Amino acid sequence: METDAPGRGTAALEPPDGGFTWAWARSLLDGLPGGRGLNIAHEAVDRHVLSGAGERTALRFLRSDGTREDWTYHDLRAATNRFANVLGALGIGRGDGVVTLLDRRPEVYVACLGTLKAAAVSTPLFPAFGRDPIRQRLELGHTRALVTTPSLYRKRVAAIRSELPELEQVLLVGLGSTTAPDGTVDLDALLASASPDFTIPPTEPEDRALLHFTSGTTGTPKGAIHVHEAVVAHHITGRWALDLRRDDVFWCTADPGWVTGTSYGIIAPLTVGATVVVDERDFDAERWYATLEEQQVSVWYTSPTAARMLMRAGDELAHEHDLSCVRLAASVGEPLNPEVVEWSTDHLGVTLHDNWWQTETGGIMIANGPGTEIRPGSMGRPVPGIEAAILRCGDEGVLLLDPGGEVQPAAPGEAGHLVLRPGWPSMFRGYLDAPERYAACFQAGWYLSGDLASVDAEGRYWYVGRSDDVIKTAGHLIGPFEVESALMEHPSVSEVGVIGRPDEVAGSIIKAFVALRPDVEATEDLELELLGFARSRLGPAVAPRELVFVDSLPHTRSGKILRRLLRARELGLPEGDLSTLEPQ
Ligand code: ATP
Ligand code: MG
Repeated sequence: METDAPGRGTAALEPPDGGFTWAWARSLLDGLPGGRGLNIAHEAVDRHVLSGAGERTALRFLRSDGTREDWTYHDLRAATNRFANVLGALGIGRGDGVVTLLDRRPEVYVACLGTLKAAAVSTPLFPAFGRDPIRQRLELGHTRALVTTPSLYRKRVAAIRSELPELEQVLLVGLGSTTAPDGTVDLDALLASASPDFTIPPTEPEDRALLHFTSGTTGTPKGAIHVHEAVVAHHITGRWALDLRRDDVFWCTADPGWVTGTSYGIIAPLTVGATVVVDERDFDAERWYATLEEQQVSVWYTSPTAARMLMRAGDELAHEHDLSCVRLAASVGEPLNPEVVEWSTDHLGVTLHDNWWQTETGGIMIANGPGTEIRPGSMGRPVPGIEAAILRCGDEGVLLLDPGGEVQPAAPGEAGHLVLRPGWPSMFRGYLDAPERYAACFQAGWYLSGDLASVDAEGRYWYVGRSDDVIKTAGHLIGPFEVESALMEHPSVSEVGVIGRPDEVAGSIIKAFVALRPDVEATEDLELELLGFARSRLGPAVAPRELVFVDSLPHTRSGKILRRLLRARELGLPEGDLSTLEPQ
């Protein structure tokens, strides 16, 4: 049964009588004054100042030295205007690529939004990348300006600068009294002398705004292009799926170097006029709980990996904190095991709402919305305006067509390719410099996500796995998620990665890599117990035949289990692009 809890704030979001349209969603935004088009930064910043809400807190930085720094919408407007003026003075403008390579500090937010104001294209990059991944991404993005710190410049960029002829400007943050090295400029000094007034030039909804690199979970990261119109989807999905409202204190734990940290860590909450908490430090269970409580976070957006790490830190720690301030908690990026959903309800007092989307979709597509009944393990239903389907597919996810050339919808519960009807505002408009790759994402009028899933009779979507990770064994098609989730139910298990290992008889044998909870010893008895435990839950066809204990699993820096690396290591194959691998 569906329960739409009253007072959830969705009433103001009733679409007109004819039902939801993207035009209606667009009407919730302002557009540039004088009908000069649509610009993400205007919707995120300036419109609040123009409507008299400039004194509200836009960004709250929890600095690494333990202090807190609040920026009002008015402050953010002035700073982003200054940044846009600096770019203009340096000859950087419409369509030019501007990359930030910075920790989560105010300049990331100022540069991203200031770049959008200047009609240039913003790419926040994760600062822990090494030289080669940085070079590849700056090259791919035709980057003309880079914003970074003196130390990151010295360590990661100076040596590759000569290989980047398109990189004209390097803007350094935090030089203090030291002089800018050759070939760089002192951004702080330029900002201080720039005017805080700026008029955003006309930008069309289809103008390029953001270039995001995918997580590299399945191979070399791809550069997905997004346009200013994406803000329509960021705004409405922020309200539908995350229930964001103006009075919210919102914490998105993703780094702006990944799409979640930009679409929902910057744009969506600011377009709503909420306060965004930015924690400059990395994960620490104790501090995270304290942050939720002390900052009175009302909407919290995080990842399954982070939730599993909180689980691993123990139930007691969770109970030491009062998290009743959290009205909605949501997660994205990886399958959210039912075990984790149940743990969040029992021990955090707030149920994690899973939702699904990708760098390519730019915004949330499928969600367990606020006020809907949660079935642990399900990603929920498509958000308004999104048409999704599960279509029958063959090897590598290629759609199967019937003799008349029509696609074949999968039956309820049957795994198939998760596809979306193109045309939503935040859909990527291309992979940079890879038009064939982009074209290959579309077939028979659908966008092919590359993920396999099923849909039940009530319209809920259930994740199976990436088409690359799905295992064929003895005639069955098995998603690693199902096997991993079953093992996660065992109290000794902290995290699991499952792969298929080729086998002459069965096609593939399922092998599980298991990380145990702290204080649990890896013994042969426990291995047998876990194999038996999985068999009792999954049946012999689906249960793993092999199981090994590992200290930890390889993850991308955005928190995804790198199953392709487990597979490559197991089979002695080349390890492939590891630029996004989290150091183990
Ligand atoms: P690459 O495309 O470079 O291999 P990636 O697909 O991990 O990397 P992202 O765009 O960051 O890059 O991630 C999107 C993918 O993450 C989805 O296609 C899906 O496989 C997975 N994902 C996201 N949300 C969920 C979810 N709620 N449940 C299961 N999987 C999810
Ligand atoms: Mg992908």
